Amino acid sequence: MREWYESKVAEVLIDQATLQRRVVELGEQITADYEGLPLTVVVVMQGALFFAADLVRAVDAPLKMIPIQASSYHGGKASRGSVVLSGIDDFSLSDLVDRHVVLVDDVLDTGRTLRRLIDYFTCEIQVASIGVAVLLRKPTRREAGFEVDLRYCGFDVADEFVVGYGLDYQGEYRNLPFIAVLNQEVTK
Ligand code: 5GP
Ligand code: MG
Repeated sequence: MREWYESKVAEVLIDQATLQRRVVELGEQITADYEGLPLTVVVVMQGALFFAADLVRAVDAPLKMIPIQASSYHGGKASRGSVVLSGIDDFSLSDLVDRHVVLVDDVLDTGRTLRRLIDYFTCEIQVASIGVAVLLRKPTRREAGFEVDLRYCGFDVADEFVVGYGLDYQGEYRNLPFIAVLNQEVTK
């Protein structure tokens, strides 16, 4: 491990090769499922940035990509009550009419963020369908009652805070090429 992060990382949960293998599998599934259909991948920034970049390159079909911002964590570890969406303009929105949408997010935790996004897209415009892809699913905190029908899931992880491969802690650690748990001294 390199010096700048070796003192910060407690454990590597999912290494780079494992991430890449699984993302390619998901890309192949999407290729097969959406064959011949107009597909738009909506990327939930910034956490899903690297996952989405790798995922779309594993999809062997034409597609469009648009970003959207969803904030509920605001840089810390505590989840906030409401999810604020931003960054999508009217042109991008109208361009989604009658297209098949795959929402790509980093983590499904309570489901609040994805539920908000799905409701937003189904209320605002007439999309042909909405599928959801997440890199990580946390199984333990679903009691909040936000049902999300996951079509593509990278990995199930335990209910602990993770960083890397796009996921941050207070804005940092996104550039770690693996998924890791930080030392307690870093996050306390
Ligand atoms: P939910 O709305 O499902 O409760 O939370 C999902 C959002 O919380 C994710 O999109 C992600 O931004 C953030 N999140 C949840 N767990 C983690 C985590 O372990 N690490 C980081 N960096 N973000 C997380
Ligand atoms: Mg997020």
